[in-house]
Amino acid sequence: MALKGLDIFKLTPKTNCKECGNPTCMAFSMKVASGAIELSKCPHMSADAISKISESNAPPMKTISVKAGDVEYKLGGETVLYRHEKTFVSKTLYASSICTNMDDALIETKLTDGLKVDYDRIGERMYCEFVFVNNGGDNAKFVELAKKAAATGRGVILNTTDVDAMKAAAEAIKASAPILNGANAANYEAMSGVATAAGCVLGVSGADLDELYATVEKLEALGNKNLILDVGVASIKSAFENAVQIRRAALLNKDRVFGYPTIVNVAVLSGGNEALETALASLFTVKYGSIVVVDNMGYDKALALYGLRQNVFTDPQKPMKVEPGIYPLNKGDENSPCCITVDFALTYFVVSGELERSAVPCNLLISDAGGYSVLTAWAAGKLSANSIVKFITDFEIENKIKNRTLVLPGKVAVLKGEVQAKLPDWNVVVGPAEAVGLVKFMKELQA
Ligand code: SF4
Repeated sequence: MALKGLDIFKLTPKTNCKECGNPTCMAFSMKVASGAIELSKCPHMSADAISKISESNAPPMKTISVKAGDVEYKLGGETVLYRHEKTFVSKTLYASSICTNMDDALIETKLTDGLKVDYDRIGERMYCEFVFVNNGGDNAKFVELAKKAAATGRGVILNTTDVDAMKAAAEAIKASAPILNGANAANYEAMSGVATAAGCVLGVSGADLDELYATVEKLEALGNKNLILDVGVASIKSAFENAVQIRRAALLNKDRVFGYPTIVNVAVLSGGNEALETALASLFTVKYGSIVVVDNMGYDKALALYGLRQNVFTDPQKPMKVEPGIYPLNKGDENSPCCITVDFALTYFVVSGELERSAVPCNLLISDAGGYSVLTAWAAGKLSANSIVKFITDFEIENKIKNRTLVLPGKVAVLKGEVQAKLPDWNVVVGPAEAVGLVKFMKELQA
C-alpha cells in the first residue's frame, strides 16, 4: 500500500528547514503522497526513509527492461486497466517460435523467411522483436537453437523447465541477455540462480494462479524481482482469466506480487489454427499480454496485429505526427515537383501512398501543422500562406530543390493567391481535394 502523507511525515527530519521549497515537512509530505513533488527535493531524508517511501509509493506494476537485439524495450509499468482511462505505457512485443522438435529445414525457414516482416509505420518499426526457443526435450539441440536465434539479431526467449538446459543455453548466448522462461514451483530456486547469475529476466509459471502467486512470493524473498509472469497454456479460457486476474490484482488491489508483465503463448493455445492464432494474438494484445508468442509472423498477421498495437498503445492525448521535412518519393530529386501537406500521420500515409501509386518522381513536403489534418490545421491557423513560406525558408527548400512547382492540397485552394504572391518564383498549383485524385493529377502534371 502507498504511504499516506502522515506516514511520510513520520519519516522526515521534521526540522521545517524549507530547503525543499515548502514551509513545513508536513506540507512536503502531503505533496509527496499526492505525487506533486519528488521525494528527492528534500536533501535531508535518511537512506532508510527514502527506501521505505520509494518502495511503498512505486507504481503497482514494475517496469522490466528486456533486450531485443540492440534495442532495449520496457515491459509493464502500466497504471490503468483501460486505455481510455489514461494511456497504456509499454507496448506488447511479439515472438516467433521455434522448437527442438521441429525438423531443421522448418527451423531454417522460420529463422529466415519467417522473420522477413520488418517495416515502418508512422515512425515505428514493425517486426517480431523476439524468437521464442522451446525445448522439446533435446538439450543439446536447445543450445544450438538458442545460438541460431541469437544470430538473427532479435531478442531471445528460452523456454524450458530443465535447469541444466537453461543454464547451458543462457551461457551460450549470454551477450543477448535472453529472457529465461522456465521457473515454476519445483525449480524456482535453481532457475532464479541461473537468471540472476546471467543477469536475465526470469519467466515464472504455475499450475494455477495460487501456485504462481506463491512462487513469485518465494522468488521475491530470494531477492529476484526481475520477473515476467507466464499465464500458462492449459486452455484459452484459463490463459485469458489469468491475464486479466493478474492485471486486476496488480492495478486494482495494488497487490505487488502480481505487479509484473506477462507472457502469453498463443502458438500453443491456438493448436496450429492460424486464424485462431491471429484472433488470440489480437485479444492478448489488448488484454494484457506484454509478450505474445506466435507460431510465425507473416504479413497477413502482422498488418492486423501491428495496426491494432499501434492504436492501442498510442497516447490518445498526443496527436500522431510524422517529422516535418522533405520526403522524396518514386526516386524524386532536386528536379522533381513538390507537393506540400501537413504532418498528421494519417494524412502523410494516405498522400504518400497515392503519390507512390502515381509513379511520378516528386518531393512530398511535410510542414509542421501541430499534427492536425489539412482542414483542421487551416482552421486553427497552423496551415497558412505564412506557415508554408516559413517551412520553405526554414528547410532551405530553394537551395535543395531546383524545380519550382509547388502543389497545394486541394482543400486549401483558397491559399493559392497568397502563397503565389509570397513565392513569386514558384508555380503554385492546386492539387485535388481528395488524395485519391493524386494519381491522375500527378500524371497530368508530368505530361
Ligand atoms: S527540506 Fe526536508 S527537512 Fe527541510 S522542510 Fe523540506 S521536508 Fe522538511
